[in-house]
Amino acid sequence: MRQSKLFTKTRREAPADEAAKNAQLLIKAGFAYKEMAGVYAYLPLGMRVLENIKTIVREEMDAIGGQELIMTGLQRKELWEQTGRWDDSVVDVWFKSELKAGGEVGFGWSHEEPIGEMMKNYIASYKDLPMYVYQFQTKLRNELRAKSGVMRGREFVMKDMYSFCVGEEDHTAFYNATIEAYKRVYARLGLGEDTFVTFASGGAFTQFSHEFQTICDAGEDVIYINREKNIAINEEVLTEETLSSLGITRDELVEVKTAEVGNIFNFGRQKATDLGLSYTSEGGESVPVWMGSYGIGVTRLIGVLVEKFADEKGMVWPKSVAPYLVHLVGLNLEDASVRDYVDGIYAAFKDKGIEVLYDDREVRAGEKFADSDLIGIPYRVVVSKKTKEEGKFEVVERRTGVVRMLTEAELYADFDGNPET
Ligand code: ATP
Ligand code: MG
Repeated sequence: MRQSKLFTKTRREAPADEAAKNAQLLIKAGFAYKEMAGVYAYLPLGMRVLENIKTIVREEMDAIGGQELIMTGLQRKELWEQTGRWDDSVVDVWFKSELKAGGEVGFGWSHEEPIGEMMKNYIASYKDLPMYVYQFQTKLRNELRAKSGVMRGREFVMKDMYSFCVGEEDHTAFYNATIEAYKRVYARLGLGEDTFVTFASGGAFTQFSHEFQTICDAGEDVIYINREKNIAINEEVLTEETLSSLGITRDELVEVKTAEVGNIFNFGRQKATDLGLSYTSEGGESVPVWMGSYGIGVTRLIGVLVEKFADEKGMVWPKSVAPYLVHLVGLNLEDASVRDYVDGIYAAFKDKGIEVLYDDREVRAGEKFADSDLIGIPYRVVVSKKTKEEGKFEVVERRTGVVRMLTEAELYADFDGNPET
């Protein structure tokens, strides 16, 4: 992509009402546009990051047998009444509206009820189970406070997966496989070390749900961890009872601020019982399906990555999700022979399938470097009149600032393959 053609421009200031570092940087660098508090559009650079995260999540969900679909944003009131979750006093984040033709609809904040209902059409016998489905959905939640930038949106992208099993044994196997798949997702995003499978509340059927919590100062949660024992407990469930059931004492735990990047639930047969979703067993009996639900906050993760890895100069993207791998910065482009030369390097990168953003603008070098730091692409390759004469390229790694001088052949060899994180 030629930067001169990118409709977004970097800007020096974020909107005055934007308090969160993640959104400030995303807006300044032209990754996101703020429509209103808690509502952000993703522009070409931001969308590439979003799609890269989705690709990683998709690969891992497919690998454990997930089948992708997409549900609707509009939902039926009657369905949520059936499980007692239509009332605003029960679910406080509903957006609702009225149909001109009469009747009320809800805007999807979760899809547990609609997907259970839909599956009545596809699950009849034990032979239809297990079944695992997932989607990437724009969820709408009427959050009271939306001060954490893209980490708490009123509109945000979630990956939500649902499992349908005959009973506990199958469910547990899949639940555990999902925990492993989630760990791979966070590891591929460069968050593995700092992400903990955390005991949390929110299990209607079980004592705990499991949250995936990433250490992050800008997060809104507090958890207690012990790295050696690999135990993490959300403060909401930090009781004597929890501690003794996990065989740990309070003084073995340290408090950390975190962002919830995923949450998984075991519903037992309760949800399916409420919804009337049953299968016929081998013995011919009608049995409610054993369900589970598994979320990942896809757009929240963008915010977490910005918050955790940014430095004073701007964002720092892990290679696995960066909008481009290489930021090719051309200098002295007013000289036609240099411009031709840099255009040639750009074409060679593209030929080799190396994702490259080419700063082909005729602006000051200082401005180019500042923008490049702000945008945070993993490698900056500077090409100038001097490069052309000496045949050596300056390659700067954004994360470490390490500078290397490479020949053209070394350069392409270096970026070949598909490096991760
Ligand atoms: P929170 O406690 O942060 O409000 P939640 O427990 O209500 O989140 P879930 O229903 O568990 O959220 O949703 C699954 C995942 O979706 C969460 O783990 C989180 O990563 C993400 N998520 C939830 N709410 C938001 C939001 N308002 N903006 C962005 N991501 C969100
Ligand atoms: Mg949650």
